[in-house]
Amino acid sequence: MRPQNLTPLFAQTTSLPGIGPRLGKLLEKLAGPLLVDLLWRLPFAIVDRRHAPDIAQARAGEIATLTVAIDEHHVPRSPRHPYRVSCSDETGRITLTFFNGREDYLKKLLPVGEQRIVSGKVELYQGEVQMTHPDHVVPPEQRDQVLRVEPVYGLTAGLTQKVVQKAIGTALERTPELAEWQDPAFLARNRWAGWRASLVRAHAPGEEADLAPDHPARARLAFDELLASQLAIALVRHHNRTIAGRATEGDGRLRATALAALPFALTGSQSTALDEIACDMAKPERMVRLLQGDVGSGKTLVAFLAMLICVEAGAQAALMAPTELLARQHYATIVPLAEAAGVRLALLTGRDGQKQKRETLQGLADGAISLVVGTHALVQEDVQFADLALAVVDEQHRFGVHQRMALSSKGHAVDLLVMTATPIPRTLMLAAYGDLDVSKLTEKPAGRQPIDTRALPLERIGEVADGVGRQIAGGARVYWVCPLIEESEEIDLANVEERFDLLKARFPGKVGLLHGRLKSAEREATMSAFAEGRLSLLVATTVIEVGVDVPAATVMVVEHAERFGLAQLHQLRGRVGRGSARSTCLLLYAQPLGETARARLAIMRETEDGFRIAEEDLRLRGAGELLGTRQSGLPDMRLADLAAHGELLQAARDDARLVIDRDPDLESARGTALRALLYLFRRDDAVRTLRAG
Ligand code: ADP
Ligand code: MG
Repeated sequence: MRPQNLTPLFAQTTSLPGIGPRLGKLLEKLAGPLLVDLLWRLPFAIVDRRHAPDIAQARAGEIATLTVAIDEHHVPRSPRHPYRVSCSDETGRITLTFFNGREDYLKKLLPVGEQRIVSGKVELYQGEVQMTHPDHVVPPEQRDQVLRVEPVYGLTAGLTQKVVQKAIGTALERTPELAEWQDPAFLARNRWAGWRASLVRAHAPGEEADLAPDHPARARLAFDELLASQLAIALVRHHNRTIAGRATEGDGRLRATALAALPFALTGSQSTALDEIACDMAKPERMVRLLQGDVGSGKTLVAFLAMLICVEAGAQAALMAPTELLARQHYATIVPLAEAAGVRLALLTGRDGQKQKRETLQGLADGAISLVVGTHALVQEDVQFADLALAVVDEQHRFGVHQRMALSSKGHAVDLLVMTATPIPRTLMLAAYGDLDVSKLTEKPAGRQPIDTRALPLERIGEVADGVGRQIAGGARVYWVCPLIEESEEIDLANVEERFDLLKARFPGKVGLLHGRLKSAEREATMSAFAEGRLSLLVATTVIEVGVDVPAATVMVVEHAERFGLAQLHQLRGRVGRGSARSTCLLLYAQPLGETARARLAIMRETEDGFRIAEEDLRLRGAGELLGTRQSGLPDMRLADLAAHGELLQAARDDARLVIDRDPDLESARGTALRALLYLFRRDDAVRTLRAG
């Protein structure tokens, strides 16, 4: 149960005065439905209204708070003209201008003969001092309320600063003091205030510097969020460790057979990764390990060999991929090896025929089938395993945590291996998974050649097409990628189709089209035609970003490369250079090139090291943007900025560890306060493991 004193924070924003259903919806869109959501929206700028000159001293372009007498209203003859109000003080005159102003409203707001405080930007228009739509108009006795530094919040269409400021102001008033959950010595060392005081302070910046992420109030709040997330991860992990795992140990027989059937040897890092995994699986604890490796580094093979350990031990293993295409590809890679090892392998996707599906389900349930590759169809209720010992999840950032859990729950104390081709920077990794065991594939398989990467302006697309023509004539296979901008899928598809038509006309019979709107049967037909060399050129959207594996492809053209993030460019480029032939990547960009885009393309030319590219990506874009990407699967941080608060993240990790060591059930005074922290950041899931365990 959520502690009582948090209740006010979890009220709907519509419980605030002046916030009805309409504004409530807008606030929800902006921040979320609850008061606590609103409180996490910190101001991004300030407006200093403390400057209170006479009219004569007011300078155009600056924000001023003036005390003026209302002299005369000039009601416009037509609503197309502005409504003007003449005002003055002893030193001069000023005109207040309103577009679409309502007469009765303005006459009440600015009664002739009285004094008002007006605050806004001073302008000079045709020699006259004026102010258009003052931000504030109040009677003199409310002067102090205006004469201050005002926080400026991000808005959404339909909301005004005033509404948001007022809503947040009231939400702050309703915010209770909470028992301190941070270590007092740590607080003192950082000179941080308590939670409530920090929250109030963060919403009341006095100067620009107060908006910086390292301002004590902001840093404290960021740390709270990071600690909540690290503690939640650590609790769940601790809980999982206490559930008895199983020791899965094989005799190596099947692995040896499969390896002998391979035309190549494992790379050093593949062997190391496999050893690490085997060692984890042999322990009686549950394994949670990440297998991180650049595209083409050979993760699938490592995963398959790990799966064989289960078969050697008389159990089963499953590999889940995020898309049908990927599942089929993994399946195709593994099938010959499974056959060589004499192990029964099945494919399970949402598109299997009834009969085949029944057979697969039967085989998994009675243990006749040892290994299965599939999509999320694997976690459906009708899927049962005789004895699932290992779940491998590929590209897990596309899966929710609950899907991972769902697969693990199909067996008893299932070991989990998560594969990701996205090289995640250390900071983000820590934020997402806490202290997770990681195996990294750092070498490319032998025989791979570096990819020749070049950046060219789009104007040279004609030359590029000529070059592609020569390559095709020489038997090469080429990808041609057009960008997809999600906001306007229609236009994007039109672009891709247009490019397809042009290239098809130029290279008749050799060009295929691939995008997400095609039926998957159609997509697969095109893919296999390309893989088998019946098509030479594949015009595609980023659907080919992940997993597509055609070792014979040697040319990658990316149009509007400046629109892609580094990680994405890296993934795209990774589609070539997978065989022994030399590959080329041509990044076509539109001019003029922004600074960040220029830096990105430079890095792409400089290195193929996915980890370095990921670090650069984080640096260039900031974590916010990285995390904002839909598929990141990384925790959505509201107060912490991982690019700025990397050190705090380390500290939060250490602190969470200490807490788990000393007070794993959160029963001490600090523990109780920490429970409130977990609820505050909606990590109820972690609190629940406390009770369950
Ligand atoms: P990833 O999943 O990491 O992108 P894959 O496992 O799909 O990489 O491997 C990419 C290609 O490299 C596959 O065709 C695979 O057969 C091949 N491969 C894997 N390991 C090696 C190796 N040690 N030497 C040569 N080729 C390898
Ligand atoms: Mg792969």
